[in-house]
Amino acid sequence: MAVPKKKTSVSRKGLRRAGQHHKLYRKHPFSCPNCGAHALPHTVCPTCGHYKGKEVIEMKGDDEESAEAEV
Ligand SMILES: [Zn+2]
Repeated sequence: MAVPKKKTSVSRKGLRRAGQHHKLYRKHPFSCPNCGAHALPHTVCPTCGHYKGKEVIEMKGDDEESAEAEV
């Protein structure tokens, strides 16, 4: 059976457990390379519908979108 050589310190354990939290709430979140809006990584941009430099989803009129949001 493989045994760890060193004891995992409280600090290291805390860093490991907080990893996902830091990824989600980091100071500079992922921004879309196409439009620059903030988006979640590995997802299609909700503003322009681009992913990996290609338009994946065709967005209905960028100008009308703001008008719809007010309703
Ligand atoms: Zn975008």
